Amino acid sequence: MLVSIDDERLIAGFTTKFGGVSSGVYAELNLAMHVGDNANNVEKNRQILCQKIGANRLIFMDQIHSDKVEALNDINQILDPCDSIFTGISKVGLCVMVADCSPVLLYDKRLNLIAAIHAGRAGVVNKIISKTVDKMGSNPSDIVAIIGPNIKQKCYNIGNMELGEFNKFIKNGYFDMDKSIEFELKNLGIKNMQFSIVCNHCDNRFYSYRKSKVTGRFAGFIMLKG
Ligand SMILES: [Zn+2]
Repeated sequence: MLVSIDDERLIAGFTTKFGGVSSGVYAELNLAMHVGDNANNVEKNRQILCQKIGANRLIFMDQIHSDKVEALNDINQILDPCDSIFTGISKVGLCVMVADCSPVLLYDKRLNLIAAIHAGRAGVVNKIISKTVDKMGSNPSDIVAIIGPNIKQKCYNIGNMELGEFNKFIKNGYFDMDKSIEFELKNLGIKNMQFSIVCNHCDNRFYSYRKSKVTGRFAGFIMLKG
């Protein structure tokens, strides 16, 4: 586990491959149900993470590479498929599964709200981060943004793709997701941001879909302590 923040108010960070019960290409701490791993093992892995951060419950999204944002108002709420979720409920760990896409975590220290966002290329280009901040009703100056391990530009060849205003972050077919996210955050007025320097595609502590195709997912997690 890479922990970015752990204080009296919240815990936020990113899992690695290590510390779980999955085997083979999913070893060890695969947190995704949709990738062909044994469901009982994934459930155990989720319990391990839940216990480790002291959560009453973890929330995983049914991620669809969309720009849909859901508000979690009740711990037992049934969620529609989405790629961003926020809440003000304590002891609920919001999780985003990734293996190349960017896990983006937000904390609004004034409203005491947290968000977990699945920001892949599609999500970034469709401004899922802006849509989340808007729905949270946040003042940008109150937000801390934490961006976890993702695929870095030198490993992310997207070929000829039309990304509108994000075209400027493509160089010789290689897309810079960090710069795109930074651009969006700055446009929103968010100044407090920290990016992981880790490329999950290069670093074997993390799953990478582009590298392995059949593989697990690691997670970004964020939880209000109370
Ligand atoms: Zn890399």
